[in-house]
Amino acid sequence: MYKQYKAETQRLMGMMVNSIYTHKEIFMREIISNASDALDKLCYIALTEQIEGYDRSKLEIRVSFDKPNRLLTVEDNGIGMNEDDLENDLGVIARSGSLDFNVKLQQAGTDDDLSGLIGQFGVGFYSVFMVADKVTVRTRRYDCSQGYEWSSGGAEGYEIRPCEVPVRGTTVILHIREDGDEKDEYSQYLREYPVYKLIRKYSDYVRWPIRMRLPHPELKPGCGPAAPEYTEVFDYETVNSMCPIWKKKRSEVSDGEYEEFYKEHFDDKADTLKVMKVSVDGNVSYEALLFIPSEVSADYGSEGYKRGPELYSGGVKIMEHCEALLPDYYSFVRGVVETGDVSLNVSRELLQQDRQLRMISQSVEKKIRGSLEQMLSDERDVYERFFARFGRHLKACAMEDFGKNRDKLQDLLLFVSSKENKPVTLKEYVAGMKPDQKYIFYTVASTVEEAASLPQTGVLKERGYEILYFVDKVDELVTQMFGNYHDIQFKSVVNGELGLDEVVGAQAGGEDQKVLDYIRTVLGGRIDEVRLSSRLGSHPVILTSGDGITFEMEQYFKSLRPDMPVHAKKILELNGTHAAFAKLKDAIGAEPERAEKYVEILYQQGRMMAGLKTEDPVAYTELICSLW
Ligand code: ADP
Ligand code: MG
Repeated sequence: MYKQYKAETQRLMGMMVNSIYTHKEIFMREIISNASDALDKLCYIALTEQIEGYDRSKLEIRVSFDKPNRLLTVEDNGIGMNEDDLENDLGVIARSGSLDFNVKLQQAGTDDDLSGLIGQFGVGFYSVFMVADKVTVRTRRYDCSQGYEWSSGGAEGYEIRPCEVPVRGTTVILHIREDGDEKDEYSQYLREYPVYKLIRKYSDYVRWPIRMRLPHPELKPGCGPAAPEYTEVFDYETVNSMCPIWKKKRSEVSDGEYEEFYKEHFDDKADTLKVMKVSVDGNVSYEALLFIPSEVSADYGSEGYKRGPELYSGGVKIMEHCEALLPDYYSFVRGVVETGDVSLNVSRELLQQDRQLRMISQSVEKKIRGSLEQMLSDERDVYERFFARFGRHLKACAMEDFGKNRDKLQDLLLFVSSKENKPVTLKEYVAGMKPDQKYIFYTVASTVEEAASLPQTGVLKERGYEILYFVDKVDELVTQMFGNYHDIQFKSVVNGELGLDEVVGAQAGGEDQKVLDYIRTVLGGRIDEVRLSSRLGSHPVILTSGDGITFEMEQYFKSLRPDMPVHAKKILELNGTHAAFAKLKDAIGAEPERAEKYVEILYQQGRMMAGLKTEDPVAYTELICSLW
């Protein structure tokens, strides 16, 4: 029965068929990777099910040619497909479920766009249509007696019909296109050597034997050694080294090969930030190849994102994402772990509690931490790029469960510092503290510029103190959760006393005290305290919250629940040496109405400086204009 492809498949097919994509050769990698997956799947099933005629040592992928008929064939004796599988797996593009993919596909117009799509999403099976004008798939599933044939001539649709398939598995037959203007453009895929090279290039690490029919010279029967004559005979020969890339020594693999593997295996178009090759032989033994991506994948942070490396044991992929191997705070790490130490027959649920697995997980955790620390000290710019992508996640995780993982994470966190406005660690900050400094100073702001222009930060900077600018919403929460860093407390510079030889409050003389009392009476319950301060530099006023809960925290909690009983103290600090203070002092006796207005303006300005809203902008504007 002939069926039409779904709309988006048709569109992609159309682009494939007409593609001038320069890396057409990747089709070979795609079919082989599907064959390899099919063998993995069968092998996994064989752990728990009896499969008729199953012999693991016979599992393989075969590549052969029929030159006169322009056919290239790839066979596997893996899991195979039944009619539904064919319909569901080959009738639609695997990745078409992704919304992002659909959107990009709709927008794609040029061949460049197509390359981008392939690079970003991969197109798996459909890449065969870049080199073939007709494709036939004959297959029989391991648990079926009936075989099926799927065939398609490209853009329009496909046909599925029952047919005789003598052995379990799948055969993909490509009818290779005729060459166009470019000589050998397609015909190269009908010759042993170029195809051999492709397999070595892209699929060498595949752990199943990829066997190819290759010619060997053989002595013709009947001729003597004096006059030897040879004929060519064809024999299947294994062409890949079968050693998965994660099992090869670091020195045997180039950086480029690791990147290539990462991109192909994890469907990412961007280079990684870090490749970690781990080989451990001790209480537990395992090999791992782990990657830190440079970009956040589209589904990262969503429910759909699955964390954890692939887990292989005894050469069988037993899990696609082994969560138990990776703590949540490193969920961005992707990769492969292989060990002989976990028992294959336990269920996936039990596997999570496996003792060996726990030990591997601890070791993996340490390796990742070690790598991050090394990046932090030796490749600062790379680390900063890493932190820009995943830092927020690390901070959130450092807070989780009442800081359970704080010790492991606190030295990996970066905060913007007033020194050159660059990110620093808490360790670096503390190392740079002045001898008389008792606290880690910080200020909360929405941007670095805003933080830098606050009067309080200005005064401290002038005196040579460093301040952390908490410009990420979670920064203050994290440090509040920590409470201190190696017993040094965090202190907001706009709130509370800073433990320096500053003069806050206290010694207001008789005259000044009268002014303060006056302000108190005018503002009533709107403030909790009013005092003089010498830390305002050239600024007249600031509103602070003292040592308790800060304005930012108050706002944060209120945003969670408006009726939350949280109250940040409001302390109005005035600069007793400022002209505004003197004017107010004069006005109190002479022009009481004007003095009240001054107080109101100072209060509203204090709010603004503290990042709070003006209570009534219209009234405030009118108030100011009334003084002109
Ligand atoms: P992906 O490999 O990313 O799933 P593909 O487009 O390469 O996407 O393949 C689509 C699906 O077709 C596979 O997921 C698999 O279910 C099925 N498939 C392809 N080739 C084979 C094969 N040789 N044996 C069994 N199933 C296959
Ligand atoms: Mg595939």
